[in-house]
Amino acid sequence: MIPFNAPPVVGTELEYMQAAMNSGKLCGDGGFTRRCQQWMEQHFGSHKVLLTPSCTASLEMAALLLDIQPGDEVIMPSFTFVSTANAFVLRGAKVVFVDLRPDTMNIDETKIEAAITDKTRAIVPVHYAGVACEMDTIMALAKKYNLYVVEDAAQGVMSTYKGKALGTIGHIGCFSFHETKNYTSGGEGGATLINVPELVERAEIIREKGTNRSQFFRGQVDKYTWRDIGSSYLMADLQAAYLWAQLEAAERINARRLTQWQNYHDAFAPLAQRGLIDLPSIPVDCRHNAHMFYIKLKDVEQRTAFIDYMKEAEILTVFHYIPLHECPAGKEFGRFSGENRFTTRESERLVRLPLFYNLTEVNQRTVINTILSFFA
Ligand SMILES: *Cc1c(COP(=O)(O)O)cnc(C)c1O
Repeated sequence: MIPFNAPPVVGTELEYMQAAMNSGKLCGDGGFTRRCQQWMEQHFGSHKVLLTPSCTASLEMAALLLDIQPGDEVIMPSFTFVSTANAFVLRGAKVVFVDLRPDTMNIDETKIEAAITDKTRAIVPVHYAGVACEMDTIMALAKKYNLYVVEDAAQGVMSTYKGKALGTIGHIGCFSFHETKNYTSGGEGGATLINVPELVERAEIIREKGTNRSQFFRGQVDKYTWRDIGSSYLMADLQAAYLWAQLEAAERINARRLTQWQNYHDAFAPLAQRGLIDLPSIPVDCRHNAHMFYIKLKDVEQRTAFIDYMKEAEILTVFHYIPLHECPAGKEFGRFSGENRFTTRESERLVRLPLFYNLTEVNQRTVINTILSFFA
């Protein structure tokens, strides 16, 4: 069986986890956490990077940090993972869903302005498949209407938009190190990127259960106390040790994924030319990280037949997301702004193919040949 995904393993993880165990410090903010955070601050150009238990936790931190209140509205695509919405709904916000662009499956930036009301507080672009949203337009709208931008860059680690790392363009960025993403901290993990200096101090307090413990450990205050609301949003240092192994190999992982992505693209270009499928497209301003390779079939019936055919050949392919505005909670906590031209239609056509660091060349060849035979 060729799985849809396997967690990335580069080989040095155990050595670093052993070192973390030997250091006598396994909790958050140990040596490996510091290394990972500094590496990302330097490599991506973020003011402050804080490791967290998950991207879900990072999004929740962002909602706390922006003081999202009951009645506030937050704009995002409907075609995303539940955590993008939940983080803000937990604070009492209403989610306003905007249609997507079929070429990238990202939020259609030209439809955002019509969704803005006097209750709007934030825009949450999701960089689907690690391909950037049209950030210049989104940041200009945020400036015009005095809104915050929280990038859901769960899939966008190591991608860029006009040379800038995804996650560093909005006021706050959120990364995921879940095992299904390009880099993992041993299964679960995330990071919050604070890109404006004025949010850093409170971000550290919210992450440390509402205390100024981070300042205490830096020797900036002589005791730490309860200052604000907060929760426990630290990653264990044992997990940061796993992540450090992956960050050291980041270029290698990225290069291999891009090769696999290109192999698929080259193999299926003739099918796209014959109009049998649609392939993902990468806008000129974007450098992507090959987080995902998907194809778009004719409709949901053909997609079901495709997934069954692949499964019969012992290859797992998957689809996602059920658009949030169509889900029970999405109906309760959100509304769709404007016309749903593409969200439902395009999401029903999409299927994701196996693409992961440890996928072998021979297995990828098998996936390609099986797909070519499906269309033959
Ligand atoms: C994976 C993912 C998340 C959630 O990440 P976790 O680290 O599992 O919490 C959020 N948003 C998007 C777009 C994702 O792909």
